[in-house]
Amino acid sequence: MAELPKISIYWASSCGGCEISVVNLNEKILDVAANFNLFFCPCLLDTKKTDIEALPDKDILITFFNGSIKNEDNAEMAHLLRKKSQLLIAFGSCSSEGCIPGLSNLHSLDDQMNAIYLDNLTTINPDRIIPRHETIVPEGALTIPAIYDRVRTLSEIVEVDYYIPGCPPEPHQIWNVIDHVIKQRPLPERGSVIGAGRSTVCDECSRKKGNKSIKKFYRTYEIVPEPETCLLEQGLICMGIATRDGCGGLCPKVNMPCTGCYGTPEGVLDQGAKMAAALGSILDIGDVKGLTDDEINKRIDDIINEIPDFAGMFYKYSLCSSILKGKVI
Ligand code: SF4
Ligand code: SF4
Ligand code: SF4
Repeated sequence: MAELPKISIYWASSCGGCEISVVNLNEKILDVAANFNLFFCPCLLDTKKTDIEALPDKDILITFFNGSIKNEDNAEMAHLLRKKSQLLIAFGSCSSEGCIPGLSNLHSLDDQMNAIYLDNLTTINPDRIIPRHETIVPEGALTIPAIYDRVRTLSEIVEVDYYIPGCPPEPHQIWNVIDHVIKQRPLPERGSVIGAGRSTVCDECSRKKGNKSIKKFYRTYEIVPEPETCLLEQGLICMGIATRDGCGGLCPKVNMPCTGCYGTPEGVLDQGAKMAAALGSILDIGDVKGLTDDEINKRIDDIINEIPDFAGMFYKYSLCSSILKGKVI
């Protein structure tokens, strides 16, 4: 019997949610097992790094690489899996766009380490010990992977063939990609986003859309939205207008605004800028006849200041791949 093509699923700086999404393929996992040899998946298998190193180059058909690049171990595995894989797929928002870990790029590494190991309510660390790349002990030097000062996307480290967005990607979209490979259909142009749409979440959202005109923004706990009308029109910041489609509009379906996890839509350079521009065009500051510039600006500020966290709202998933990346530290 011919050997099945190898696939690997690797997590770098990841929460594990992308693996759960693969498990949520449910019975289709059996089809995956029938068609592929799942050779490397640290959360399921005990395959060693040396086993990967021993493979001929390009011996793995597809690597699904989730998680962002935050330390030198993540980067080393990215290089190794790139070398050993025919197709390297940035799987999920973290590896594609940096995702929530990427928001740490707003802070220096010292501030991050202090927040994690010293100055927080749930850590007891009286000796104020912070992990270091190298620690000298009587037996010699102990090392752990060096932590980078900022999160990087996979494509900042190695060449990426395809991107599957989502935090995590929806199982039906993962299956679409796997089924495509099983049926040996031609793959799209290298560098494309696959397992998602080419439009925005608004286009797959069934809520009624009318003229958008916002006098006040609300946070989700402040109102119970009307179930059929566009959430943005009700003052909830729904990122659907600036987010790639593909999830089926899951969050608006359950009365929650889209937070943007499918990332930047096709043809858009910067998800946060797109959203800010969209909001700018729908603010209702009333009749401005006779008002001074300062009075108009104050009306705008009064509405905008209702938004508690611009970066976390507009760039929750895409800061690393935005125009701002690397300029904010
Ligand atoms: S994309 Fe989301 S689910 Fe996947 S590893 Fe990152 S944070 Fe977790
Ligand atoms: S803004 Fe949100 S609620 Fe409104 S149509 Fe778009 S996805 Fe649906
Ligand atoms: S609605 Fe938005 S946040 Fe929710 S799953 Fe879809 S893309 Fe992600």
